[in-house]
Amino acid sequence: MTASATEAIAIAGNPNSGKTTAFNRYTGARQHVGNYPGITVEKKDGTAHLDGGNVTLIDLPGTYSLTAYSLEEVVARRVLAEDRPGAVIDVLNAGVLDRNLYLTVQMLELGSPLVIVLNMMDEVEKSGVKIDIRRLEELTGIKCFGAVARKGQGLDEALRAAVELASERKGRGEPLEISYGTEIDLALQKMTPMVGDAKLLTEYYPARWVALKFLEGDKEVVERAVAANPEVSARLKAATDEVTRQLRVAYNSYPEAVIADYRYGWISSILRNGVLEHAGDVLERTAASDKADEVLTHRFVGPLILLAVLYGMYYITIEVGNIPLGWTESFFSWLSDSVGSLISSESLNSLVTDGVIAGVGGVLGFVPLIMIMFFLISILEDSGYMARVAYMMDRVFRVFGLHGASIMPFIIGGGIAGGCAVPGVMAARTLRSPRERLATILTVPFMMCGAKIPVFLLFVGIFFDKRQALYMFMFTLLGWVAALLIARALRSTLVRGPATPFVMELPPYRYPILSGVLLHTWERTWQYIKKAGTVILGISILIWAGMTYPGLTDEQEEAVHAAREAVMANAAGLPDEEVSRRLLEIDNRAAQQDLDQSYAGRLGKLVEPLTRGAGFNWQTNIALIGGVAAKEVVISTLGTAYSLGSVGEEEASSLADHIEADPTWTTANAMSLLFFTLLYSPCFVTLLVIRQETGKWRWTIFCLVFNLALALGVATAVYQVLSRLA
Ligand code: GDP
Ligand code: MG
Repeated sequence: MTASATEAIAIAGNPNSGKTTAFNRYTGARQHVGNYPGITVEKKDGTAHLDGGNVTLIDLPGTYSLTAYSLEEVVARRVLAEDRPGAVIDVLNAGVLDRNLYLTVQMLELGSPLVIVLNMMDEVEKSGVKIDIRRLEELTGIKCFGAVARKGQGLDEALRAAVELASERKGRGEPLEISYGTEIDLALQKMTPMVGDAKLLTEYYPARWVALKFLEGDKEVVERAVAANPEVSARLKAATDEVTRQLRVAYNSYPEAVIADYRYGWISSILRNGVLEHAGDVLERTAASDKADEVLTHRFVGPLILLAVLYGMYYITIEVGNIPLGWTESFFSWLSDSVGSLISSESLNSLVTDGVIAGVGGVLGFVPLIMIMFFLISILEDSGYMARVAYMMDRVFRVFGLHGASIMPFIIGGGIAGGCAVPGVMAARTLRSPRERLATILTVPFMMCGAKIPVFLLFVGIFFDKRQALYMFMFTLLGWVAALLIARALRSTLVRGPATPFVMELPPYRYPILSGVLLHTWERTWQYIKKAGTVILGISILIWAGMTYPGLTDEQEEAVHAAREAVMANAAGLPDEEVSRRLLEIDNRAAQQDLDQSYAGRLGKLVEPLTRGAGFNWQTNIALIGGVAAKEVVISTLGTAYSLGSVGEEEASSLADHIEADPTWTTANAMSLLFFTLLYSPCFVTLLVIRQETGKWRWTIFCLVFNLALALGVATAVYQVLSRLA
């Protein structure tokens, strides 16, 4: 008379959590004791009577974890995954909730349908600790019951819930997917499809779980995988080796430790999220981190410290970065001069100096600043502080109809300046709720991404010289404000729907290691440089061509020639300076005329009526249109426009000098341009990624059109107000 496994309910938990006590209460100690087949671990099953029916119960061996360290763990895991009991009652010693939840997390990762019993509530009450069981349910999405197994309290309710769950789920729950940090998450993203496509052990385990076991170096799973499919296993091992190397360099750690850290982080964030009243007193493992967190994530002090940290970051970036910035500027103007003098062909000369060097150089010139900023960001990330930032912002996010998990996409997208919307939009994959995910994807592009920064650095440097760091900081915050307000608006209109509860992982604080910080800094800087060498080089040449061709007509050339001749003919009796001044004036006018009637010039002028209210001239228009291709192009295009439009002004060497010398550029123009740059259409690559992630052209077009309209509206308002104040 054996019930099939899927009708059985398993009782799992750490040793000494009260499993056997509960089991005996349920079964009246009518149990069958034996050994698991082939293994000398005690196996007990029995029958419980509940509401007039019979329920088969299995008392699993007590384990702290589901790795394959001990026979008990191997057995527990096999029963859970292969016999698939209909549901699992997870018995926890509520007095050491954080340690006991470690097994819970792992069963959830495995996809076991759980009911949680918080046992020993009598002791908990005596100790004065308060556990908010409803809150725990809300955050984990699992039914939880307070219990005193020794007195039989709370047990029937739990069993009833387990039976109900078993009939609903038939032994299959939704596997919990938590984040294990960037490196491991990326590796899992790569490995999970390998496991899934090869159906490697997926009969029993979720694909992501198998990949996770490879990363944890789980001997049992790896051996079985190798036996089943040596090729795919070899590829999984190679991916594991790679991330192991990365983690060694970056954190002096290894995957298993990092994974464990993040599991504990998940637990600790649940407990401190209103489940435990004095979370800091009860959480054992991360005691030192908790002490620090009491201050750093404090309700009032935490956000103030956060603002101070962000401001400090801009301050250091700009104060320190201005020194090498001067060097790169002079280097590129020297390069332009010396290369220019080597090339005799006029159009080739223009292509190299005005197109390539002015364009790419304008972008590369910011490398030192960007490097310093990435260096500081890497320190914040590697130390674990960034996760706290996310945790603190969570409270704010709910108000705006977003999810706690929206923070990572925002931060990656440039919430702490220097991100990129492309990985930012992709990071929104961690959001479960489709509406919150969509609202996040659509608003990530408002953040201050690394490509917008040079535009801000340039204009803030010229017009707000005294307060650079403050202005940079302000615009970054403005990016947040815009994203949150638009998200709120979207969530009340186009993407309406309810909110889902959320748990954020808090890894313990670590001292960042220099090699890791340098590696992360270099990786990001290199990405930036590579983009300058490829996408931006290509676009620079394209835009240069648009600005150079079709060129002056023959008659116009002749007129310029004649004008020069005329000056030369009258040169006698005039001082040399006056002659060259007049010649230069003719050349400048010719260059201006040339740019005027170029393809790009025509396009820029075509949209001029639209942008006049925002204070943009047609050169700015060209730059902004180019910016849809890649935001860095705004700078490189202005660089090209100014070097094409003004020939041979000797003092004005850099783009900043050009703009500073141009009387038509006022603070109002600059401000309007910066607001526009912050808000307008995401770059081309981001648009493609939005299409890929939302699966709909509709949202891609929405981002393009809506953001453009918004940016133009705001920029126009800014310009109209500021130009009247001035
Ligand atoms: P197992 O290792 O998980 O099977 O745990 P046991 O059922 O053997 O229980 C371990 C110890 O905890 C025993 O001494 C039990 O009497 C005790 N115990 C079980 N449930 C409770 C409870 O609700 N309150 C208290 N105070 N002690 C309990
Ligand atoms: Mg026992």
